[in-house]
Amino acid sequence: MAKVVCVLYDDPVDGYPKSYARDDLPELTGYPDGQTLPTPKAIDFQPGALLGSVSGELGLRKYLESQGHEFIVTSSKDGPESDLEKHLADAEVLISQPFWPAYLTAERIAGAPKLKLALTAGIGSDHVDLQAAIDHNITVAEVTYCNSNSVAEHVVMMILGLVRNYIPSYNWVIKGGWNIADCVARSYDVEGMHVGTVAAGRIGLGVLKRLKPFDVHLHYNDRHRLPEAVEKELGLTWHAKREDLYAACDVVTLNCPLHPETEHMINEDTLKLFKRGAYLVNTARGKLCDRDAVARALENGQLAGYAGDVWFPQPAPQDHPWRTMPHHGMTPHISGTSLSAQTRYAAGTREILECYFEGRPIRDEYLIVQGGALAGTGAHSYSEGSATGGSEEAAKFKRVS
Ligand code: NDP
Repeated sequence: MAKVVCVLYDDPVDGYPKSYARDDLPELTGYPDGQTLPTPKAIDFQPGALLGSVSGELGLRKYLESQGHEFIVTSSKDGPESDLEKHLADAEVLISQPFWPAYLTAERIAGAPKLKLALTAGIGSDHVDLQAAIDHNITVAEVTYCNSNSVAEHVVMMILGLVRNYIPSYNWVIKGGWNIADCVARSYDVEGMHVGTVAAGRIGLGVLKRLKPFDVHLHYNDRHRLPEAVEKELGLTWHAKREDLYAACDVVTLNCPLHPETEHMINEDTLKLFKRGAYLVNTARGKLCDRDAVARALENGQLAGYAGDVWFPQPAPQDHPWRTMPHHGMTPHISGTSLSAQTRYAAGTREILECYFEGRPIRDEYLIVQGGALAGTGAHSYSEGSATGGSEEAAKFKRVS
């Protein structure tokens, strides 16, 4: 029987919810490209419940314990005294969400000789040292597509929020003001702007489709070009080099995975290629950007705004400059963990566990690493190596109530 360790974010400060704002979730029939929704044999949770926090347990306890497995759930993940560090020594399966990532570094993998499966309940497995997983024959899987559209919605919200100056205007209301001139002195229409995405995968394409009705000019860069019919339908301009896209756009959004090829692709030098006053929206991974270069670009006006929900490391220490830099619209990492998304990734996690324990193949689209090599979606979207360097900084974070 296996030891399954699951790292989840803390419950709300007021305790686990007893009721919810809505009674049900819309029913989806599939994903836009025809991929089916998760297909576990059963689920033991109510769709729409908070599953991603410690007490939610991703709805997995009944299933795992009924099979005789040991199931450890904790939010304690950083530093040598953490529960994670303690339990990794004899864990066979590690489940983690990108929102509160259990950084699985080469050192931790070396100290986890029984580990066979690192399962991301969500999308994006950059918190795992993929090279070490390859070298130690650990399978890495994630729930591809589970929250891609959740993030695409969030990107559109953040673009509109930044360009129209929503958050500062909202704050004037809270302060008791009616300061229209203060609100609008940085407020523009998105209509007519040039908006570009770096990567047109599931999220990037979702963003482009959602932005089409705003009458903007759409641009994208990706390693693989979209079908001609899609480019035509959406009126897309493709850029072979992302640097060319930066120069052409008023708004740039990053939607590629973090891997050695993309780490710090936004830096002091590449920010100089942007139009002065461009907006940058990054809900992909914090480490795609050089932290201090972004803060400086906001201070000197090269960027008019920056928004996103991803940081490095996570949780971000209290003194992380993105908490206090000007003209930002940052939130903690939430876009892919709406209650709607949690229902899908909890079901997908259960599906992957069922496959693993029953010796059935995990869907190809869920695979990142298998058999000592990048596999499935991993082979398409990632490069070998590791992007976990510096993650020990997450231990500096102190929870606020
Ligand atoms: P997909 O795998 O569908 O898309 C990723 C795309 O990135 C692919 O089209 C891939 O191109 C492209 N890509 C990879 N490397 C590069 C590169 N060097 N330059 C340009 N494009 C590149 O994944 P999703 O769209 O579903 O998710 C993307 C990322 O978003 C995730 O990896 C994760 O980091 C992040 N994410 C964030 C969430 C949140 O809550 N904030 C939730 C979900 C995801 P190709 O395959 O053509 O080579």
